[in-house]
Amino acid sequence: MYAETRPLRARVLPSLPVSEEMAHTQSSMPTAKAYAAASATSSLALTTIPRREPTPYDVQLDILFCGICHSDLHQVRNEWSGVMPTVYPCVPGHEIVGRVTHVGSAITKFKPGDLAAVGCMVDSDRTCPECQAGLEQFCGNMTLTYNFPDRHLGGVTYGGYSDSIVVDERFVLRVPSNLDLAGAAPLLCAGITTYSPMRHWGVTRGKKVGVVGLGGLGHMAVKFARALGTHVVVFTTSPNKIEDALRLGADEVVISRHADEMKKHVGSFDFILDAVSADHDITAYIELLRRDGNMTLVGAPEKPLSVPAFSLIFGRRSLSGSPIGGIAETQEMLDFCGTHTITADVEVIPIQKVNEAYDRLLKSDVKYRFSIDMASLKSK
Ligand code: NAP
Ligand code: ZN
Repeated sequence: MYAETRPLRARVLPSLPVSEEMAHTQSSMPTAKAYAAASATSSLALTTIPRREPTPYDVQLDILFCGICHSDLHQVRNEWSGVMPTVYPCVPGHEIVGRVTHVGSAITKFKPGDLAAVGCMVDSDRTCPECQAGLEQFCGNMTLTYNFPDRHLGGVTYGGYSDSIVVDERFVLRVPSNLDLAGAAPLLCAGITTYSPMRHWGVTRGKKVGVVGLGGLGHMAVKFARALGTHVVVFTTSPNKIEDALRLGADEVVISRHADEMKKHVGSFDFILDAVSADHDITAYIELLRRDGNMTLVGAPEKPLSVPAFSLIFGRRSLSGSPIGGIAETQEMLDFCGTHTITADVEVIPIQKVNEAYDRLLKSDVKYRFSIDMASLKSK
């Protein structure tokens, strides 16, 4: 989800305070209720945002649930200012599940009343080699669901902390009917972001897989690694998560602050997924990889991480990163979740508690994803 730096910076538009944004909303334009941050230090608060009239290629959704990703918090507080500066007001939210209320005349995949989902992307150029390979997440002209230039309305895109959204059909996903909807919403980011690198790096039955950080992403990684038949080891800084890690599917749990426990696993992992949101020592994990093992970073801390060359050279180990996944793979992941009945473990909250939820996220105090019940926004 983190496109190349330079073109993005060039395309970032000037910010508007929430009240001015409302003034710019033409009276005839459809609007939605939303929660927005007006600055990096503001709490999120109720506002009104413009949404476009659906084109013949668009699907309009009433949003039922939206997950809270740690990326929402990084972005709202402008912690990624060097790569993706935040444009205010910022309406986050890219784990969206909703019900279709309107489809454009060219739409064949959805009809009003269907369940549908939207993840981190809402558009791409569809013509570049990345798009043609089904890897829209790498398209240089991809549009993220929020804080990205909006090709239709100008300004920036606004995300899922709102009561409705209008999205091109190609970026709308089908939700398996057996899944709990509050728990399905986080699949749209936490799910695909952990599923995709496991598929890419050949995580299959019998492999030894490490998951670092048992948060929203980490707990999904444990569920997928388990469903793929691997031996799963969770690394956590939170001793109070040991029982949950085992319940979620871990075979072993290591308290990462205990050096002696870490040492037992040196040179043994085929694959490690690092889903930590804050500064930490990644060398300690690279050393746990076996020859040709890979560690993939999906966590995106504010500060750079340091890597000694020899930790990679010895053992021909590799360190890589991975952003979300393409649309086809996101559908594949949702269908996999339907088959294996996998959803996120969620704490459902009304949108009025979103600021409290952010504070708790910072303390690693969520089991294991907040999912906003958007009925709470409609009732206001
Ligand atoms: P989260 O729910 O807050 O989980 C992060 C986990 O990291 C915490 O539960 C905690 O696990 C661990 N942690 C936190 N502070 C730590 C510290 N100081 N030292 C060591 N471990 C620490 O966050 P999330 O929503 O899963 O997101 C995780 C990261 O992935 C964020 O940076 C987010 O922006 C990024 N992300 C990336 C992508 C992508 O496309 N690559 C997509 C979505 C999110 P324990 O309590 O178990 O230690
Ligand atoms: Zn996310």
